[in-house]
Amino acid sequence: MASVELKSICKAFGSVKVLRDVDLTLEKGEFVVFVGPSGCGKSTLLRLIAGLEDITSGDLFIDGERVNAVLPAKRGISMVFQSYALYPHMSVYENMAFGLEQARLGKDEVRRRVNDAAAMLQIEAYLDRKPKQLSGGQRQRVAIGRAITRNPKVFLFDEPLSNLDAALRVDTRIEIARLHKRLSGTTVIYVTHDQVEAMTLADRIVVLNAGRVEQVGTPLDLYERPASRFVAGFIGSPR
Ligand code: ADP
Ligand code: MG
Repeated sequence: MASVELKSICKAFGSVKVLRDVDLTLEKGEFVVFVGPSGCGKSTLLRLIAGLEDITSGDLFIDGERVNAVLPAKRGISMVFQSYALYPHMSVYENMAFGLEQARLGKDEVRRRVNDAAAMLQIEAYLDRKPKQLSGGQRQRVAIGRAITRNPKVFLFDEPLSNLDAALRVDTRIEIARLHKRLSGTTVIYVTHDQVEAMTLADRIVVLNAGRVEQVGTPLDLYERPASRFVAGFIGSPR
């Protein structure tokens, strides 16, 4: 079953066209990685799916429902940013609980969801701390934990590892792959400009170039049969 469908999606900021006729169908439970050089439109595409930007033209469907005009909070989507986006004045627990309280979930349900997510990410010991008392890696785990408490149908990651040092990047990457397995049925869309992340995490990779989809395929497809020199250069295949 299709989880996310983009049909002829275009996005312009003023007269600047940033996305051109993007057509994609992502299956439920798939781990899809968007790659491409800086400025090619990866973040804009995620933000459109999340509902944080308006679509200029085209149609977006989530679980078969057209959501062009559906509010972000009603789309069943959680997003994790490279900058964590935690509230500095709130504790870890409060950061994770805040959105659930806004959604008027009962106190017990909020506590259950926060504790489950905290256990999954091994951050139970930090629930009373403020974000500034945590390392970058711990903050990113909190941001991921907070996203999980929403039980999203679709999980969006925008370069979640780019503020972490090399060793933590590897650990967190493995953690994200493990989470995807555990949250079976959850579709993940993961943006990176890092070939290793793309090749190791993806069921399928979408290569973007200047606002267009250049190729879609499994890591092996792209490596063995790159559709263009651009893809070959990007993926690092010998063609
Ligand atoms: P990526 O994430 O692939 O690096 P972005 O999606 O952030 O690329 O940006 C794609 C293009 O859109 C860039 O040229 C960027 O300058 C432009 N852009 C992004 N957001 C805005 C905005 N709010 N207003 C104007 N231009 C924007
Ligand atoms: Mg970006």
